[in-house]
Amino acid sequence: MKLFDAHIHLHDHRFDANREELISRARDKGVRGFCSLSADPGDWPRVIENSRKYPFVLPGFGIHPWYLKTTYPGWREDLAKHLETEAAILGEVGLDLVIDTPLEEQMAVLHQQLDLAQDMKLPVNFHCRKAWHVLEQVLKAYDFRKTGFVLHAYSGTDIIVEKLASKGAYFSFGGGLTKSGNRRVHKAIKAVPLDRLLIETDAPDIPPVIDHKIDNEKPNVPENIFYVLSAMAADLAMTEEKLAEMTWENSMRLFGDVILPRKIG
Ligand SMILES: [Zn+2]
Repeated sequence: MKLFDAHIHLHDHRFDANREELISRARDKGVRGFCSLSADPGDWPRVIENSRKYPFVLPGFGIHPWYLKTTYPGWREDLAKHLETEAAILGEVGLDLVIDTPLEEQMAVLHQQLDLAQDMKLPVNFHCRKAWHVLEQVLKAYDFRKTGFVLHAYSGTDIIVEKLASKGAYFSFGGGLTKSGNRRVHKAIKAVPLDRLLIETDAPDIPPVIDHKIDNEKPNVPENIFYVLSAMAADLAMTEEKLAEMTWENSMRLFGDVILPRKIG
């Protein structure tokens, strides 16, 4: 079995003590590729370091809506440089209406980043929380049908899936799927076209439910993707093998040209 983790943060300091070991444990169990994303410019050097060290890691560069204060004069040029030189995608970027940062500020930074991705024909890894109507507006200014984009930890409704898919969306599911009470997610995943489905951990964040409980004290780790896989298999009444194969193929199709120079697999 071969899995591709579509959204993880391998550079995170919570992995500093045992990164090597965690990656090789997941690799041994079949996680053969990762899309590893930055949250702010402070992460960029470590994201570069990791993706150069591990050829099966596709890096993402971007500024997450929670960290807009980390922008500085010249951030856009630096971002463009990394996107160009590292065989990377844009991310993690997005919109979050749960936080206090005014929407206009979020939009200004997001648009500058999406302009870059569109110019460079790169896929995007999105964070979107309670901002689905805004995202639909934003997407009107772009055409991501060819390059595609990921909606990570998808938390929208089943109703908007089709519309987002027609814009180029891939829907990625992680630890949220392991919570049986999360009805919206269990309903939404069933509406996702099978060729647009992805799997992720978001490690070290969003730990899955393991033996009926969530341990928020410990960081989520890459090999926990198998808990997500079994929850996904239960929801879709498919075998884990079939789902692994399908989400792997979807990842390769989506990340296509960008992923080619890397050694994924
Ligand atoms: Zn994330």
